Amino acid sequence: MTDTTTVNCPTCGKPVIWNAESPFRPFCSKRCQLIDLGEWAAEEKRIPSQSDLNDSDEWSEQDR
Ligand SMILES: [Zn+2]
Repeated sequence: MTDTTTVNCPTCGKPVIWNAESPFRPFCSKRCQLIDLGEWAAEEKRIPSQSDLNDSDEWSEQDR
């Protein structure tokens, strides 16, 4: 008997057991579910994070 069906989390690819213990299936966790639902929002957040990288360049110049 094989009632341990597993699926791969669409967000991170981690195997998820398809039973009542995985309330967020096919996602492995609520976090991955939110990431998938809000994928468009996550990409918008990447724009300000790139300017953070420019700030870190100034830090390295101060270090020298
Ligand atoms: Zn996941």
